[in-house]
Amino acid sequence: MLSLLVALIGLAVGILINRAADNLPPPLRRSFFETPRCPYCDSRRSPLEQCGIASFVLRRDKCHQCSAPLRLRAPIVEIATAALFAYLAARYPMGLLLAALCLFTAILLLIAVIDIEHKLILNVVVLPATALALLFSPILLAPNRVALDSLNLRLILVSLLGAAIGYSLTYGIYLLGILFLRWLNRNRTNKINTVAFGMGDVKLAGLLGALVGVPAVLYVLIYAILLGGAGALAAILLQVVRRRGYSAFMAIPYGPYLVVAGWAFVVLRPLP
Ligand SMILES: [Zn+2]
Repeated sequence: MLSLLVALIGLAVGILINRAADNLPPPLRRSFFETPRCPYCDSRRSPLEQCGIASFVLRRDKCHQCSAPLRLRAPIVEIATAALFAYLAARYPMGLLLAALCLFTAILLLIAVIDIEHKLILNVVVLPATALALLFSPILLAPNRVALDSLNLRLILVSLLGAAIGYSLTYGIYLLGILFLRWLNRNRTNKINTVAFGMGDVKLAGLLGALVGVPAVLYVLIYAILLGGAGALAAILLQVVRRRGYSAFMAIPYGPYLVVAGWAFVVLRPLP
C-alpha cells in the first residue's frame, strides 16, 4: 500500500524529470518552470501531453498542433521513476533516508536522460546536486542507515573526501585522455576528438563521490569503467554484425554507466 503511494509520487516526479530534460539542455536552456514546447511547431504542451503515460494511453501520442509524434522517452521515464521509487519504498522504512534516496534517484535519472540525449552533463543539475549530497551525507552515510545525528561532521568529511577523490581521479583520466589524443593526432589529417572522460563526467564523479563517500567512490569508478567497457564491447560487436566494420575511436558516453554504478552503491550498499 505504502509502496503504491510512493510509486504514484514517483510517477509525478517522472513528469518533472521529463520537463527538466526538455527545458534545461542547450540550445533552449529554458527555465524548469516554463511549459515544455513541441520541438517541431513550438506550441506549448497541453497538461495532458505533459504526462507521457496519459498521452500514450489515451492515444494522443501526437502533438495537438502539428501531430508530430511525442517522444517515447516521457512514458519510459515516468514508469522507470515509479518502479524505482516503489522498489526503494519496499526496501527502506518510511523516513528521511527513503526521501533522500528517492531524491537522488530522480536526480541521477535526470542526468542519465540528458547525457543519453545530448551527450552533456549540465552544471545546473550536477553542481547543486553535489551540494545537496554533502548536506544529506549524515543521512545517506549513517553507519547503520537509521541513526541520524543532527549534524555529523565526520560523515560530511567522508562525503567531501569522496567528492574530492572522485573529481580528481577522473580529472586525471580526463587529462591523460587529452594527452593521448594529442599523441594520436600528431600525424593524422582527420583529427580524432573524442576523449574518454569529458568534464561533465568529472563533475558527475564528484557528485557520486559525495553520495557514497570514501572509499566506496573508488569501487564506483572501477565498476563504471568495467560497465562502460562491457557496453562498448557490445556496441562494437553489434556494429561488426551489422556493418562488418567498426571505428576504434567511438566515444563511450560514460555518464549513464557512472550513474548506474553510483546508484547501485547508494541504494544497495550492504547494511553493516
Ligand atoms: Zn507540434
